[in-house]
Formats: sequence, C-alpha cells, structure tokens
Amino acid sequence: MKNQNLHFALRQWYREAGRDLPWRRTQDAYRIWLSEVIMQQTRIEQGLPYYQRFVAKYPTVESLAAAEVSEVMKLWEGLGYYSRARNMHHAAQMVVEEHQGSFPQEYQALRSLKGVGDYTASAVASFSAGESRAVLDGNVFRVLSRLYDESTPINTPAGQKLFSKLAEELLDRDDPGTHNQAMMELGATVCTPRQPKCNSCPWQEHCLARTRGTVAERPVKKKKTYDRQRHLLYIFFQTAEGIPVEKRASGIWQGLYQFPLVESTQALELDQWRAQNPLDSLLPHSELLLREVLPAHKLSHQTLHIHIYTLKTSKERVVSALGHGYQWVYGETLSQLAFPRPLRKWLDKKQLILPF
Ligand code: SF4
Repeated sequence: MKNQNLHFALRQWYREAGRDLPWRRTQDAYRIWLSEVIMQQTRIEQGLPYYQRFVAKYPTVESLAAAEVSEVMKLWEGLGYYSRARNMHHAAQMVVEEHQGSFPQEYQALRSLKGVGDYTASAVASFSAGESRAVLDGNVFRVLSRLYDESTPINTPAGQKLFSKLAEELLDRDDPGTHNQAMMELGATVCTPRQPKCNSCPWQEHCLARTRGTVAERPVKKKKTYDRQRHLLYIFFQTAEGIPVEKRASGIWQGLYQFPLVESTQALELDQWRAQNPLDSLLPHSELLLREVLPAHKLSHQTLHIHIYTLKTSKERVVSALGHGYQWVYGETLSQLAFPRPLRKWLDKKQLILPF
C-alpha cells in the first residue's frame, strides 16, 4: 500500500469527522502541553472539564508556576495519577526559570521538562510547530497493529521499537501535526478496542487485519504477571476537637491527604483488623460507628482493598495512641483538601448523610 494514498484518505476523513476540541484550535504550546498531560490515561469526557478549569485558572505558564502546589493538586483531584499534577507544576516552574516563560516547542527542549516523555514531547512539538515526529499512544499502537496486522506484543521493548519505526515511516512529513492528531482520533473514535467501525474507516481497503480477519486479535499484549494486593484500613476519627488527617509523604498518592492508616499485605478478617495497632488500644475506649469496605480500586500494578472504620472518641486518646504527627481539621475543611479518589468519593457521600 502506498503511504500517499493512506495520507490522503486519512486527512480527508479527519477534516470531515475529527472532533472539535479546544486544544486543536490553538498553536499555543503551553495549552497543548496542558491538554496532553491531562488527557493521558483519561477519557475526553472526563478530562475536558479539567482542561477548561486549568486554562481558566492558569491561562499562562507563569500563572501555573506561581500557584501553590496544593492548589494545583486540589484542581486535579479526581483525575488520578497524581504524580502528573506534581510534575506539571514542576515543569511550569522550569519553563519560567530556564526559558523565561516562553514555552518550548522543540522536541529536545520539551524532553528536558519534568514529566515530559517521548510521547508528550512529540505531540507538543508536532502540533504546535509542525516538527516531524510521530506520536505513539495507545490509540496509535492499535491502529498500526491492525493496519499492518502486526503480532509483536506492543508492551515489550521489541514492540516499542518496531511500532515506533512503523509510525515514523507512515508519518506524513508535509503536515505531521495534523497526521498525528488524525491517527489518534482514528484510534479513539473508529478503530476502537472493541467493535471497531471498519465500515466508516478511511483505511478499510488497506487494512491487513481486516482482510485477514484478525482485527479482534490486534494489538497483541504480553500479559502482566504482577498484581500486588494491598489491604488498607483507614480510621476516620470523629472527635469534638476535629478529625486527624496527614499528607502522604511518598508512594502512590504522594502529596494527597489521608486519614490514619493501617496496612496489611493480606486480607484480614474483622477480628484480625481489630487486633491491629492502634485499633486494639483505641477500640475499647471508642464507639465504632461504622465499618465500611469500598469497592476494590485497581491501579496499573496493584489492587487496593480499602476498609474504613469510623470511630467516635477523643483527641486525647488518638494523640496518646498515634502521637502528634497529624493535622486536626473540621468537617467543612475536608472539602478543601485533596484526597485520593476513593476517599474523596467516600467523603462526598458521607457528607450527604452525616454532617459533622
Ligand atoms: Fe481499524 Fe477497521 Fe480501520 Fe482496520 S479497517 S484500521 S481494523 S477501523
């Protein structure tokens, strides 16, 4: 198949069917970068309101760099993958300090920014300045694997190398930005993981997987064998003097708030949880109001099983069992702090039924 024919068909299809999204109407590298960071691992419907809120609150890279990181985390709350927000804030500060606030458009300069990998740098450089770089995201992997009926697993080093070569060879050098946008759009709206709409595809006559009947088997992914199971018990203390919370210092959800935590590597029965520190010393002197188990929360390499105990007790007892390392806040302040998604959802529900 000739690349020229593929380019022509793709461009025409994108002109007619591409969605009108705010970051596609601008050449501003800062806004394009913002949209790319927000949209990673995120559906458009979920990410769009976040993009609009970020642009409204931080219209320039200087305004984002000058913000408090806790403010940025709060605005990001609910999107998940919180290291992206921290890196984004750090990168904005790098642009102000090292590029005098002028957002870089070249691939190499973009790569030096915190959190900017090959994909984001290629996307921003090609969309904002037409640099000749092919982007490779999940959508593009899928389209390429079907177009060429390629069975090399996409999540292996060999797959990365091969698909990156295929993407570069297929790139439309006359208009790399539009080509990249169109490839991603084709994967997002037509060449979808399940039930692709091949009859609406501009490449239906060229697609090898379609001809050979292997569409449902592409792309091939090597199975991940590692899925860590973690069992977290949060204790929500209700006291007349407030609720203790702390900021996570490291690991997943670093920088977000949480309640006092007890963790176990194995699933525990109710009585076994109760025998854990500090519950064993606190329970006899507290009133257990509620014990809840949240739906399992899946992350890329681990599954979190979250339990929450609501205990009514006094600040004095909590301090004697846990020490002074907690911040004490009242119910209304909880809505201003950034919590991990499962805790935020739980809190929002709780506030409806239990004003405290
Ligand atoms: Fe994907 Fe079907 Fe188009 Fe092939 S013909 S690229 S499988 S949508």
